[in-house]
Amino acid sequence: MRANTWAGRNKVEVRDVPDPKILNSRDAIVRITSTAICGSDLHLVDGYVPTMQDGDVLGHEFMGEVIEVGSGVPGDRLRVGDRVVVPFPISCGACAACAAELYSCCENTNPNAGIAEKMFGHPVAGIFGYSHLTGGFAGGQAQYARVPFADVGPLKIEADLTDEQVLFLSDILPTGYMGAEMCDIQPSDVVAVWGAGPVGQFAMDSARVLGAAKVIAIDKEPYRLRMAEQAGHVPVNFDEVDVRSRLLELTGGRGPDKCIDAVGLEATHGSAHIGAYDRIKQAVRSETERPHALRQAIMSCRSGGVVSVIGVYGGFLDKFPAGAWMNRSLTLRTGQCHVQRYMKPLLGRIERGELDPTRIITHTLPLDEAARGFDIFKNKQDDCEKIVLKP
Ligand code: NAD
Ligand code: ZN
Ligand code: ZN
Repeated sequence: MRANTWAGRNKVEVRDVPDPKILNSRDAIVRITSTAICGSDLHLVDGYVPTMQDGDVLGHEFMGEVIEVGSGVPGDRLRVGDRVVVPFPISCGACAACAAELYSCCENTNPNAGIAEKMFGHPVAGIFGYSHLTGGFAGGQAQYARVPFADVGPLKIEADLTDEQVLFLSDILPTGYMGAEMCDIQPSDVVAVWGAGPVGQFAMDSARVLGAAKVIAIDKEPYRLRMAEQAGHVPVNFDEVDVRSRLLELTGGRGPDKCIDAVGLEATHGSAHIGAYDRIKQAVRSETERPHALRQAIMSCRSGGVVSVIGVYGGFLDKFPAGAWMNRSLTLRTGQCHVQRYMKPLLGRIERGELDPTRIITHTLPLDEAARGFDIFKNKQDDCEKIVLKP
């Protein structure tokens, strides 16, 4: 089959690789009809994660048709011919974390959990296309994928909806929604969102759906801010204004009630070729030197507010404003998205027209043009917001 693979720092390449096979009784094989490029893929492609290997198949946002199921997948759960969206965390459905619906913290699905433990001091669960740190599972920017624990994760799509309407249930729509849900939004709340990338846009839409009075979008890309504005949110360009002052102006001098960080490690993209461990050190350094979304969110939030972090972080962060966090009684909430928890309810919101995930798609490309897609997305060319790939 054809698959988009990591080919070294800042290089991806669509190659011929062996077709996936059922390895365990709870596996399924999915023929992929649509897949997407995510901001998280950029953390991998530019070599930030040192456990990437040449030939690793990328991609954790995908959907398609089930073409084979293992003997351990009950027929009432999944059958050949079913159309499914596959969530990015691989979850067993049975451990203590899964029982608590903390699917992205599953204790059973990462055979390499020890690597993360050694590198960061904590384990991580299995994730598709996310290097050997998260289990070495081949990703979904490919013609086919093996889906482990297929009786737990995949969501069947029976309604008459396009791939574009439901594809983002695999990751970024639930992630944006979880970012807003963690804010415990009240009707009078002003919610500020750092990052108007795909995840940020969905956090903004979700904050509105959950009842926020006003949603503020913070970014430096004028076209991304325009996209947020067209969806009804208030743009703030951090290249043009001092963000904290502007937020105080917009909130009667108190700061936003709820702040969402949908940026994460973006600060580290695009730097020179250096070793992975140096890279982590450099990331820590650069985050102390430049305006940083998380720090700004904590410093801007009103007393008693919530800072919700869905941007991805790894390793350590310096200059964390512990004083503002503690003295202003802020609540900090975060997590890799527990996608399985949100898929069904969000499918309902799409069906009822409350959320329109298609609004962020700016590019659709054949899988064979994945390398060009990564360039366009990473360099924000051609007003790119979100790229869908068709295998
Ligand atoms: P993206 O790279 O397209 O978007 C990030 C945006 O942040 C860009 O538009 C950039 O201009 C903006 N930005 C950079 N620095 C900023 C700053 N200081 N203030 C405000 N905006 C700033 O990525 P995306 O696909 O939207 O993903 C966003 C983040 O969410 C990434 O870190 C990604 O890894 C993470 N993510 C998390 C989960 C999860 O489960 N928690 C799931 C998916 C993605
Ligand atoms: Zn993603
Ligand atoms: Zn589990």
